[in-house]
Amino acid sequence: MEIEATCDFFSRKKSDFYRLCYNAFPGGAMKEPCFISDIKKNQRYSAGKLFSEVHKIIRVCRPDITPYVALFGCSDEVNAATDSVRFNIFGKYGGVFTTRTIGSQIFFHQIQVGVSRGHHSNVFEVNVHIGEMEEHGKIIVGELIGRDGVKRHCCGALAHIIEDFQNMPDEKPSISQSIDGEVYLDFLGTLKWRLKPHQQEILAAPIPILAITHKNLEVQINELIRQLHKVIAKDSTLAPMFVYGTISYNHIGRDDEESLEHLSLITGPNKDDMEYLIC
Ligand SMILES: [Zn+2]
Repeated sequence: MEIEATCDFFSRKKSDFYRLCYNAFPGGAMKEPCFISDIKKNQRYSAGKLFSEVHKIIRVCRPDITPYVALFGCSDEVNAATDSVRFNIFGKYGGVFTTRTIGSQIFFHQIQVGVSRGHHSNVFEVNVHIGEMEEHGKIIVGELIGRDGVKRHCCGALAHIIEDFQNMPDEKPSISQSIDGEVYLDFLGTLKWRLKPHQQEILAAPIPILAITHKNLEVQINELIRQLHKVIAKDSTLAPMFVYGTISYNHIGRDDEESLEHLSLITGPNKDDMEYLIC
């Protein structure tokens, strides 16, 4: 493929940067092979830097579309500060369609509303998060002091799932429950159900909370892309769509950091109608 050749031409490792060249975007503004962003996968940046770069990539690749963002993230209040930065960059196009569910999850109904008339979401972010704090001169991953001053797991939903994987490895997760006569959608159960196939891999990882954070992002991104292909199959005028996945590293007393882990362009209704912009 020409994209590969372009990477070779610049004699840089493919994993070092986003492979963005005009060959991939015949309708875009780029007239010759070039790279419009040097930010790297799995590296940390300020929220302002990262969202600005994603915004720039979208605008350069497809100047013909106005980016309307829909966000899928965890409900945790520690994510609120980053929202103001995200909104500052993407919100000027009429706000951000926001769907927050514990642990960060994708749901059919929210996607349907997000893409519908008057909302027209065409850029989708999945954001997962992980706490980091220093204790006795050591960095503790997956924990944070809460707003009530008490130390807790972060992301708590994902830490809870690791505990259940360890203590009840044969559990069959259920997506709904009935408590006190009330039937409700079990958010934790749904999250667990999607992550269950990866139980062994997560538990065997050197830092399971880090592993489940990455895995959840991957699982939800794949689910989102699968559903968006179906959306475009029903209404081809909704293409193209961008999908990107971020991790927030939450801190106490200093700003969060963000990493970009996924970035794709969905061009049509079929599985192959994809451009992967991150390597
Ligand atoms: Zn969380």
